[in-house]
Amino acid sequence: MHRLATFLLLWCVTIAPSHAAQVHLLTAARIHTSDPAQPVIEAIAWDESGRIVAVGDVKTLLEAYPAATRVDAPDATVIPGLIDAHGHVMGLGYALMRTDLVGSKDKADVIARLQDFEKKLPSGAWLLGRGWDQNDWPQTTFPTAADLDGAFPNRPVWVERVDGHAGWANSAAMRAVGKDLSGEWQPEGGRILRDNGVASGVFIDGAMTLIDKVVPVPDLAYRTQALQRAFDAAVRNGLTGVHDMGTSREDLALFGTFADAGRLPLRIDAYADGDNAALSDLCTNGLYRHAAGRLQMRGVKLYMDGALGSRGAALLADYSDEAGHRGLLVMEPNAFDTAVRKAQGCGVQVATHAIGDRGNRIVLDTYAGALGDAVFADHRWRIEHAQVVALDDIPRFKALGVIASMQPTHATSDMPWAETRVGKERLAGAYAWRRFLDADVRLALGSDFPVESVDPRLGLYAAVTRQDREGLPSGGWLPQQRLSALEALRGFTADAAYAGRDEAEVGRLAVGMRADFVVLGNDPLAVLVGELDDIAVQSTWVDGKPVYEAK
Ligand SMILES: [Zn+2]
Repeated sequence: MHRLATFLLLWCVTIAPSHAAQVHLLTAARIHTSDPAQPVIEAIAWDESGRIVAVGDVKTLLEAYPAATRVDAPDATVIPGLIDAHGHVMGLGYALMRTDLVGSKDKADVIARLQDFEKKLPSGAWLLGRGWDQNDWPQTTFPTAADLDGAFPNRPVWVERVDGHAGWANSAAMRAVGKDLSGEWQPEGGRILRDNGVASGVFIDGAMTLIDKVVPVPDLAYRTQALQRAFDAAVRNGLTGVHDMGTSREDLALFGTFADAGRLPLRIDAYADGDNAALSDLCTNGLYRHAAGRLQMRGVKLYMDGALGSRGAALLADYSDEAGHRGLLVMEPNAFDTAVRKAQGCGVQVATHAIGDRGNRIVLDTYAGALGDAVFADHRWRIEHAQVVALDDIPRFKALGVIASMQPTHATSDMPWAETRVGKERLAGAYAWRRFLDADVRLALGSDFPVESVDPRLGLYAAVTRQDREGLPSGGWLPQQRLSALEALRGFTADAAYAGRDEAEVGRLAVGMRADFVVLGNDPLAVLVGELDDIAVQSTWVDGKPVYEAK
């Protein structure tokens, strides 16, 4: 009966070309638009193409579109689809295929989780994991291979630290390298930690490649499953867009197969993975845009330095907790300059990872040199993280037209130990979102998943409270840098869209824009800030169609 009715309906529409195109109408308790011209409305209407044709009050829109298909959410709040301006989609997929070690309490907890996960593995497969953080353990020194060898004498174990900038291997994994890891030598851009000249099992930044390159390469079926898991997790949490920071040619092709099949549930702005094949493709073939409108590559992601947790971030002065050490440059400034100018020559947007104050300064200097008079043009170059920045350098973001792409949850994850790394004085320019906004710098927000959770509600919560999920410290860490809920929402919607050059398509709910939105159980601009992380995502919509609906 139902099927017949659907068939007849479709048939009627198909044979009646003179009918107006089908319009869909959403009504809700309130709709936050992220559009300053009309910040709160009650209803939006969109057509079959998925573009918004009208916004306003329920009565007017019902009169205008009496035949519209209706979605009524009388108790819900609707916001523009959330955009994560900095994530790693394949990384998230792989993380969902690996042992989750986030929040592990100590080494024994890590081993127990690995043993549990191992049960699902075929014999001979590497046991992989991600997310440990020795700073959370009773003993905050780095772990060693010996800690793993008892439980895993033969199977290679390789588990990344929470920031992805250090890895911990057992002896079987180190044997697989097939090279003597002892002695004094160090690989470029990285460090092998050693005890009396013998590799201890921890590999930092560039040194991780030694192990990474002997891990068996995931095949297509594995990658496809990983990617599907990442997409499912993203839309379940209200994301309708992601800026994928460091997409290889192969990964772009895999995203493309999802787009071809109409199975890409959200928008991906892919940024080429450094000065490599994907960037060459952009230079040869021009900027990439999939015809279906959900996948594009128009930028490149470059790296300047490492991360703070593993003391890889490049600082202007010594680490406060390691005299004589100022971090690592992942790329030599000259090679970086060459890569920036190459991208510029190809019309490719530049986004560069910079965490330490030295890393940020080198990027700003390089951008300034490459841009010259073009600083006043609409280049949209970005710095990813801008985590510890010298106070004098913050206004330079504005002067150079550089977007600060920052991740609120990094602040709340790092707050227990950040001061130990950089000292009190340098904290003034650390995770300093408010200073950037006050300096009139465009602030795009994201999570850096899978380094942090893919859930953007946690980002909104961290941005507004600067507290952990238990509400500590009371009043927030460096509370003068807190954002309002509206500012945080703008960072995850309109300003994230701007950072991806997508502001004419998404990020706001206004006529002509894509109908990408999230239906929430509560109003993020009205709830107590401590409840921002608990708001239910009821459904997620892209191009006017649901890509996730809560059961
Ligand atoms: Zn990242």
